[in-house]
Amino acid sequence: MNINKNYKNLEQSYLFSTVARKVSEFASKNPDKKIIRLGIGDVTLPLCKAVTEALHKAVDEMGVQSTFRGYGPEQGYDFLRTAVQKYYAKRNVELNLDEIFISDGAKSDLGNILDLFDKDNTVLVPDPVYPVYVDTNIMNSRKVIFADANGDNCFLPMPDKNIKADIIYICSPNNPTGAVYNKEQLKEWVNYALAQKAVILFDSAYECFISDKELPRSIYEIEGAKECAIEFCSLSKTAGFTGTRCGYTIVPEALGKLNKMWLRRQTTKFNGVPYIIQRGAEAVFSEEGQREIKENINYYKENAKVISDTLKSCNIWHVGGKHSPYIWLRCPNNMKSWEFFDYLLENAQVVGTPGSGFGRNGEGYFRLTSFGSKENTLEAMKRLEKILK
Ligand code: PLP
Repeated sequence: MNINKNYKNLEQSYLFSTVARKVSEFASKNPDKKIIRLGIGDVTLPLCKAVTEALHKAVDEMGVQSTFRGYGPEQGYDFLRTAVQKYYAKRNVELNLDEIFISDGAKSDLGNILDLFDKDNTVLVPDPVYPVYVDTNIMNSRKVIFADANGDNCFLPMPDKNIKADIIYICSPNNPTGAVYNKEQLKEWVNYALAQKAVILFDSAYECFISDKELPRSIYEIEGAKECAIEFCSLSKTAGFTGTRCGYTIVPEALGKLNKMWLRRQTTKFNGVPYIIQRGAEAVFSEEGQREIKENINYYKENAKVISDTLKSCNIWHVGGKHSPYIWLRCPNNMKSWEFFDYLLENAQVVGTPGSGFGRNGEGYFRLTSFGSKENTLEAMKRLEKILK
């Protein structure tokens, strides 16, 4: 037996374990101080009523002989795929049902999709970014190159014709920076991918945070994208499904063999998302579900605005926060990411995430999130103003 030696090449991520250790050390030394966590990347509001009602109903169906369901279609039940199809149609994106695949979340599919690609492909990944893109490719020994995101391009790197890439990752709205591409910028990426005969893996996990109609929520709003892009989406941040697990991946038929290959891959290695969960997910797309999840998203967005307004008042450069739950700020006084982390913890008892944990270009930056409660966010910002203004 020979193990997959590529695992040795993975960088150990100490980011969240170091954050947890530092916070618990501080807490044990300062038991009287209230720590506010604005580093969380998980939602905190519960599932909405439309969803829990649908879940309950589906549970009852499973206990009755005539409505019990066993194995379902690996690519998802038609009722949910139709709901996703209609959701896209609202934005004038026409999809065939065969192009829609229901998943247990975006993370699994982002990793699993790599089964379709040869190891020799060169992979272009923005830096900083969600670490899963890099690690899943390292596990398969693919060459990874980086597109620099930085203050100069407002953390929205653009394609460079002189660089050859076969698999291109784009995450918009971005984790960790919250930056969002506009249509013209995405068009440049689509043109680049078409010219290079590359595939774009477009992660739209945070699309529901976009409120400006002019900004693309799906890459298929861009002409030519169906010929070069696969899109990954998730109900995790849209509807609080982080623990419930449901997402969807779009593999257009215009991509040629990839659509049928993905079906083959899924029918071989995946047995579908539970019926009960798919019924809950279907409810997200109902009129009531959409209204209820919008209330939750707006709650987070109001927190994001509070954070962004505070940073503005303290003259701290930042992106994100407007169409995203993430706010990415430049650490004041040229502090490094971990230095600022310690400074905030010591002086304001506020916890965020050091940007250096998301890539080389994240050094000197810091991520705050809007997933906390309104009260905590307001309190944390008061404390920040006190020490930074
Ligand atoms: N993509 C991005 C950019 C994320 O930030 C996350 C989760 O934080 C995911 C995908 C994973 O989503 P899911 O919960 O659907 O697996």
